[in-house]
Amino acid sequence: MTQLIDSFGRVHRDLRISLTDKCNLRCSYCMPEFFNQWIPSKEHLTTDELITVIDIAVEAGIDEIRLTGGEPLLRNDIVEIVTRINQLEKPPAISMTTNGIALKRIASALVNAGLQRINVSLDTLDAARFKEITKRDNIAQVFEGLAEAKRVGLSPIKINSVLVRGVNDDEAPKLLKWALEEGYRLRFIEQMPLDAGNAWDRETFVSAIEIRESLGQHYSLEPVAQRGSAPAEEFLIDGGPQTVGIIASITAPFCGACDRLRLTSDGQLRSCLFATRETSVRDVLRNAELSESEKRARISALIFDSVAKKEAGHAINTPTFTKPVRPMSAIGG
Ligand code: SAM
Ligand code: SF4
Repeated sequence: MTQLIDSFGRVHRDLRISLTDKCNLRCSYCMPEFFNQWIPSKEHLTTDELITVIDIAVEAGIDEIRLTGGEPLLRNDIVEIVTRINQLEKPPAISMTTNGIALKRIASALVNAGLQRINVSLDTLDAARFKEITKRDNIAQVFEGLAEAKRVGLSPIKINSVLVRGVNDDEAPKLLKWALEEGYRLRFIEQMPLDAGNAWDRETFVSAIEIRESLGQHYSLEPVAQRGSAPAEEFLIDGGPQTVGIIASITAPFCGACDRLRLTSDGQLRSCLFATRETSVRDVLRNAELSESEKRARISALIFDSVAKKEAGHAINTPTFTKPVRPMSAIGG
């Protein structure tokens, strides 16, 4: 079996795909309220193109596909995409990160199509705060979506929360209490400088240590030894078995164990969220002078090359760090 190994010995197994850069929310840390620089529709990979790239990536050694965005459930072909990934000769594990708004309608069809795991993003339990953070009034749909995800048997259901000082940083223990009661696995993510505007600010940034201290006032937290390639540091709550995760992308980057590659909705391969280089698989897919087998060979070579050239880590904590010009929604969080 082939493996995607970079020059630092990291084996790449996980491909994260932004299915669209569009979203029905406007989370302050992700995109500005009046953002309008969307990728034109004809530049997005079609369903067939997407499945071809995934098939080649799986052949190269990828065994988990995470569908994300933007909001992945805005793609009309989302059930077809999951179905066709699951029908590949060697079907990879299929997971999704979503804001949950459309889950009530579609969770059942997604599970029947082969979706195995889901992460739902929710930063607050309070409707007014939700509106302040996302600029939309949809918290009820997120709760309904979560209930449906549970009903149709998606497990585990993980909750992703980003805390912003002065907005929801006081809510960490409340979110954890709720997640424990509902049986969800909560993970806090440090805010990264990936917004399309200038929302990232040292003053409003809430660190992993602060989150741990805040939770520690209500629960005892004991680090779980084995972390593997997972970005979250997991803590046993009050002796376990339930856990909470904290993803310290800024204060304690986990690049040394990274096993991820990324594909944007317009067909650009990236080896890191913060990569300064992208490679277009779409140009190969749409090159009329190439046969299907030549296209596959070239795309496979691009995937191996992207992994081979992956840097040791990102440079967020250095003075020379420059934010990627594309927002999180385009790159795929
Ligand atoms: N729309 C879907 C959602 O919100 O789950 C999927 C895409 S979203 C970009 C994926 C994840 O990235 C979400 O959990 C979101 O909270 C997180 N995210 C977005 N912007 C971020 C930032 N600047 N720093 C850290 N996490 C961020
Ligand atoms: Fe949309 Fe997800 Fe970004 Fe929020 S974090 S604006 S839900 S893409």
